[in-house]
Amino acid sequence: MKIICIGRNYADHAIELKNDLPEYPLFFLKPDTALLNKSKEFYLPDFTKNLHYECEIVVRINRVGKNIQEKFASNYYNEIGLGIDFTARDLQDECKQKGLPWEKAKAFDNSAPIGDYFIQKNELDLSNMSFRLFKNDKQVQFGETKNMIFSIDSIIAYVSQFITLKVGDLIYTGTPAGVGPVNIGDHLIGYIEDKKMLELTIK
Ligand code: MG
Repeated sequence: MKIICIGRNYADHAIELKNDLPEYPLFFLKPDTALLNKSKEFYLPDFTKNLHYECEIVVRINRVGKNIQEKFASNYYNEIGLGIDFTARDLQDECKQKGLPWEKAKAFDNSAPIGDYFIQKNELDLSNMSFRLFKNDKQVQFGETKNMIFSIDSIIAYVSQFITLKVGDLIYTGTPAGVGPVNIGDHLIGYIEDKKMLELTIK
């Protein structure tokens, strides 16, 4: 499986990082070794001094598809989860400055934690649902899918022009404003609406 991540999909987050708003979905990949599931612990890597959480709605692909039309995209997923796109912001800033790829800042081992729970898509209003992240019991991120620049279905249509989607692939759909650093001992809890989806302690 592979992990496809969308960048700058919420205007408030693009602005907080001083990025332009995208004209089409910006995506990058994380390998399967980035996935962290069935663990409630994340070990802070020593190659970064500024590791940021980015809480994101995640879509699990359940059919193989290529060149998927937007109007059929919802046939390619059933389950919605919540994940963190961990980002070594210091390394990413350096890569951006030099015009280099982001992989070492984004695709490292365990950089894509995902909660154990997935919700069936028909139990949610995908175009208008909220999600939030708490760090040490304080709410640090709040997002609403109505503020996505590109909808889940338009992301699937766009990305599948270039890359075949396969069963089990995960799409991290972008983060809202409020990203920030984590340090050893921090405790993260994420919700979709009122459902606890994800819990992680930084070690
Ligand atoms: Mg992200």
